[in-house]
Amino acid sequence: MVKLPPQVKKALRMLRRNGFEAYIIGGCVRDRLLGEQPKDYDITTSAHPEETERVFEGFRVIETGIKHGTVTVLIDEMPLEITTYRIDSDYVDNRHPESVTFTKDLREDTARRDFTMNAVAVDENGAIVDFHGGREDIERRIIRCVGDPDKRFGEDALRILRAVRFSSVLGFEIEQRTKEAVFSNKELLKNISSERIASELLKLVCGKNARSVIVEYIDVLSVVIPELAAMKGFDQHNFHHIYDVLEHTAAAVENTPADSPVLRLAALFHDVGKPLCFSMKDGVGHFYGHASVGADMTNAILSRLKLDNATRETVVKLIKLHDVQIEETETAVKRCMNRHTPEIFFLLLQLKKADTLALAPKWAVRCEYLDRLKKTAEDILSRKECFSMKQLAVNGRDLITIGYAPGKELGLCLSDMLERVISGELANERDSLIGFALSRLCQEAGRR
Ligand code: ATP
Ligand code: MG
Repeated sequence: MVKLPPQVKKALRMLRRNGFEAYIIGGCVRDRLLGEQPKDYDITTSAHPEETERVFEGFRVIETGIKHGTVTVLIDEMPLEITTYRIDSDYVDNRHPESVTFTKDLREDTARRDFTMNAVAVDENGAIVDFHGGREDIERRIIRCVGDPDKRFGEDALRILRAVRFSSVLGFEIEQRTKEAVFSNKELLKNISSERIASELLKLVCGKNARSVIVEYIDVLSVVIPELAAMKGFDQHNFHHIYDVLEHTAAAVENTPADSPVLRLAALFHDVGKPLCFSMKDGVGHFYGHASVGADMTNAILSRLKLDNATRETVVKLIKLHDVQIEETETAVKRCMNRHTPEIFFLLLQLKKADTLALAPKWAVRCEYLDRLKKTAEDILSRKECFSMKQLAVNGRDLITIGYAPGKELGLCLSDMLERVISGELANERDSLIGFALSRLCQEAGRR
């Protein structure tokens, strides 16, 4: 028996009392059977969309996907997606169905769903309706297509990537026949829009099982991101490493927090430039310039996937910086935070740590140095020490008051001042800064 929140029960009961069938289905049922809290609840019903709207008269109803039979109803603050039983038909080019047909038969609705684990229905009393053996597959932690995998992947190739994504997120194995079809149909993913790919990929890299999934399904991932292909089996010929570039990458991904898509993506692509930058000297492999080449490649990849600009820019920046050595001094830490912001600085330390822990084990001691850098940065922030222009005890207006003209010289004075404050040469106090600015002004006048 699966216990349901009162809002969901209410919605199911209202539909039922109006003469319709109604069940929760999909991810929410799967998550509950796994003993996890569902993020949201999807309802499937025999009611047509306009009938659903009538049942929920007086409630807030949003026509989220009316063409596909979906309306969202807000019940006591909880949004519920309610979709009419449907059969998808006429798939063109391995993508979304051209048309949907409504049906009165729950079995037909479950048959259009991608995997058995996503096709289990539960009614308002918690009773389970399972036409495809989904419950057992959930118990055995197996991802299996509903029906013939080749046919299902041919209809909508995104399901190939969804199978891999679910394996990463849930830690389930893909069943043998479905797995074979994942590999043999992988090229069909080329017909899928970047937006749909990107959304699955983001979930995939954030999965708890991302490390092994990235290694096992690299050939599938390489269809959507061809740049990844060269990492597979690429021997680094370098004493820092015990893994090839792909295995190292997958380990680095696992070492970043799963709730940070930015860090997960940065880890996935941090060494993507390595194969292009490889050189050998005296039997040792080197990868000069790989950070910046990798950053450019990642910029191209994430633009192609139409990822939002903020995520793309942060990921690219982290990759570009991932190999820089940061000196273990307050001055160096302040300079770095000034140049790149404290947010980037802390993310960078996390990426570096993930990278370090994916090297040969003897290098793990380097994490202590990264931890010390983090502590230094935290101390600077908690003591509110100055590392950026806006924290200086004087500003442009103050300089104008003492005789500076707005423009280049004023800007140079401020940045010179900041540099001296960061290096400890000047105190960040109004009097000493004004004194410095005045002497600079005099020197400047003397020079003219
Ligand atoms: P998540 O926890 O990631 O939301 P989910 O199973 O709810 O997992 P959704 O993408 O929200 O996944 O889709 C909801 C349901 O719709 C799925 O459980 C599945 O039954 C069905 N579904 C979604 N996409 C497809 C597809 N491409 N082909 C067939 N069925 C699909
Ligand atoms: Mg869902």
